[in-house]
Amino acid sequence: MENQQITVTSPLLPDLQDFIPYLEDIWKRKWLTNNGHYHQELEKALSEYLKVPHISLFTNGTLPLITALQALRITGEVITAPYSFVATTHSLWWNGIKPVFVDIDGETCNINPEKIEAAITPKTAAIMPVHCYGQPCDVLKIKEIADKYGLKVIYDAAHAFGVESGGKSILEYGDMSTLSFHVTKVYNTVEGGALVCRDAETKRRIDYLKNFGFAGETTVVAPGINGKLDEIRAAYGLLALKKVDEAIASRKRAADLYREGLKNVEGIKYLNNMENVRHNYSYFPVFVNEKEYGMSRDALYFKMQKKNIFGRRYFYPLISAFSTYRGLDSASLENLPVATKVAESVICLPMYAWLEKNNVERIVNIIVTKGNLE
Ligand SMILES: *Cc1c(COP(=O)(O)O)cnc(C)c1O
Repeated sequence: MENQQITVTSPLLPDLQDFIPYLEDIWKRKWLTNNGHYHQELEKALSEYLKVPHISLFTNGTLPLITALQALRITGEVITAPYSFVATTHSLWWNGIKPVFVDIDGETCNINPEKIEAAITPKTAAIMPVHCYGQPCDVLKIKEIADKYGLKVIYDAAHAFGVESGGKSILEYGDMSTLSFHVTKVYNTVEGGALVCRDAETKRRIDYLKNFGFAGETTVVAPGINGKLDEIRAAYGLLALKKVDEAIASRKRAADLYREGLKNVEGIKYLNNMENVRHNYSYFPVFVNEKEYGMSRDALYFKMQKKNIFGRRYFYPLISAFSTYRGLDSASLENLPVATKVAESVICLPMYAWLEKNNVERIVNIIVTKGNLE
């Protein structure tokens, strides 16, 4: 279909007939949430797949961010990147923490480690970087700075499901890493998420925190929240996990086609694979240089929409531009020139498993012809 509507993402759905026996079993067990059978199975399966020994499931990807800050008792100021989904900074605000924005590196779209030290004050307690688009942050440099100043590191790894660097899971870095299993992500449980930590004792504390702080029938050890994942979505997650490798391989084919098709288009840049990294191809951002391309980002974006191609301008506007944060000193344009420029040039093209070759070609053609192809 030449004019079929294509959206930025499409969910990785398990096969419905495979899901029905799981549902029948859940109905038989009559145990629907609170660390049930499928919850335990999914924690085990994800721990193996992601190569992380300690992982705690959550009902979405925002609560693990909020809970990580609680578990590590972070207060004061936290250094973070403004080029992300709003949940990253919101999690700080919900903990009464002051976000301090640091500019990104234009080549990776991740926090620029060279700019971190200048933002550290006596109140700084942690760094919350984002593996943006699943591109690994400069984890070694960030660790060096954190160690030097005694700061905790919490990675927002919502985009980085299955990403490895040098054969090691990217979730191994920092004190904790958070994942989102929202339906728009590489792997989903409809809504869902997880918190990865370093040791069993911390995992136990996180499990208390996500269950109101209950450590026993009559014992509440902390002001916890309700972050539990239910059995139905845990079972769905077990089935979705079986398809995720195939999904990532399919995304890679789409990314390769985009790169091949766009490599000689003046004024259009994209991210390349990094050395020694297992990518998950979670997003395919392109960056429009208006002067070289001869058309603005927004003009191209809306022209694509007219042709039924619905990319998204992730991440525009910057988090620092929203009303809650724009008054902060670190939200100023002078502090964030690179993030501002990237946010004004980005379009995330449709990217999902089983995105058809002819549809990638259709999108590439629109970009090559600047939307003039009929
Ligand atoms: C999706 C996302 C989240 C939040 O996840 P939810 O599961 O939607 O709550 C957090 N951070 C980033 C960078 C995200 O993309």
